[in-house]
Amino acid sequence: MFEQELSYIDQHGLRRRLVVAGPDDGAHVMINDQRVILMCSNDYLGLANHPALRKAACAAMEQYGFGSGASRLVSGTGALHCELEERLAKFKGTEAVLLFNSGYAANTGIIPAVATTDDVILSDSLNHASIIDGCRLSKAQVSVYRHRDVNHVEDILKKTAHARRRLIVTDGVFSMDGDIAPLPELVSLAERYDAMLMVDDAHAAGVLGAGGKGTAEHFGLTGRVPIQMGTLGKAFGSFGAYVAGDKHLIEFLLNSARSFIFSTALPPAICAASLAALDIVEQEPERRNKLWLNRDRFVQGLKALGIDPGESETPIIPIMIGSSEKATQASLLLLESGVFASAIRPPTVAEGTARIRTTVTAAHSFADIDAALAAFGALKQKGYAG
Ligand SMILES: *Cc1c(COP(=O)(O)O)cnc(C)c1O
Repeated sequence: MFEQELSYIDQHGLRRRLVVAGPDDGAHVMINDQRVILMCSNDYLGLANHPALRKAACAAMEQYGFGSGASRLVSGTGALHCELEERLAKFKGTEAVLLFNSGYAANTGIIPAVATTDDVILSDSLNHASIIDGCRLSKAQVSVYRHRDVNHVEDILKKTAHARRRLIVTDGVFSMDGDIAPLPELVSLAERYDAMLMVDDAHAAGVLGAGGKGTAEHFGLTGRVPIQMGTLGKAFGSFGAYVAGDKHLIEFLLNSARSFIFSTALPPAICAASLAALDIVEQEPERRNKLWLNRDRFVQGLKALGIDPGESETPIIPIMIGSSEKATQASLLLLESGVFASAIRPPTVAEGTARIRTTVTAAHSFADIDAALAAFGALKQKGYAG
C-alpha cells in the first residue's frame, strides 16, 4: 500500500523528510553533529528558548500540573487561559480574545463558524493551507481572488451582493513570500460593501507594527479589522493561537467553533510561557529592532550578490529556485556550507516556484547573517538561486 504514491512523490522531487535538528541558541542548530546557522525558523524574536519562558512554564507545571484534561467547556477553564485571553485582548486593543490550540485549529474553527450556507468567502490565492482548509470545511461559496489584487476583490463583492454575508480572509504576512496584505484597501472595501474582514497574523504578531501588534497596527488600522487571528508558536516562541475581536464575535465562536469546543485545552504551562512571551514582546522593542536590522542586512547582501528577494517586505525572504529537484539540491548544498534553510515545494507553493524560504530572526548576529550570505553567494556561483 502507498508504494506507488511514494514513488510518484520521489520521481517529482517532492519527498518531504524530517531533519533531526537539535536545539541550540535560536540562531544555530545541530544537524548530523554539525553546528549550522538556522535560517528557516519562525521564532522571530528568539524567544523559544528564553529563560523567562522556561521558568514560567516550569512554575505553572508545579502549580497546576501538566495536562489540561479536557475541553475548556467540559472540565472548567484554567485561570491561566483567562489571564492570557485578557492580556492578549489588552495587547490587541479589542474587547475580547479566544484561545485556540494552534493556528491551524483557529482557522479551521473560525472560518466555517462565521461563514456558512448562503455566505461567500473571498480568499487570497496565496493564503495559508489552514485558511484553505477552513474554507473547505465551510458551507459557504468560496471565491479565490488573485494574490493581493484588490480590484479582483471588488469585482467579486459587486457580484455577490445577494449573499447573506461576505467574509474577506487574508494572511497579514504571506508565509512563503514574505509580502504584506493590502490591508488599507481591504478594510475600505469591507467597510464599503459591508463585508467581514479576517486577517491571519501568524507571521505578523510580534513582528509588524511599532508595538508588535500585527498587520493592523503596521498600517494604522487598529480597531478596523474585526476578526484578527494570531499565533503564539512563531514570534511568541510558545504554542497556540487566538482570535481577537468584539465580545459578540468571541462569545459566538466559543459557542460554534468546533476546533475550540471539541478539543482538549492548551496545557497551563503553555499559557504561562505565552504570558511571559507577551511581557517580552511588550517590554523589549529592541528585539524587534534587531530583527529588522538583521533582515535589512540580509536583503541588502542578497541584492549585492545579484539574488532577487522577490516581493518580500518582512523577515521572510524567498530565494526562488524553480524546480523541486533543484530546490532540494540547493538546500543540501546550503547545509554543506553550514546553513539550514529548507526547500519549499508544491503543493505548498505553485508548480515551478520551488524555493528556499529563508527567515531572519533577532537571534542572529551580523556575523551569522554574513556567513549565511557567503553560503548563498556560493550557491549562486553554482548556478542556483536567481
Ligand atoms: C503557521 C501558520 C498557521 C498555523 O499556525 P500553527 O499555530 O503553526 O498551527 C496559520 N496561518 C499562517 C499564515 C501560518 O503561517
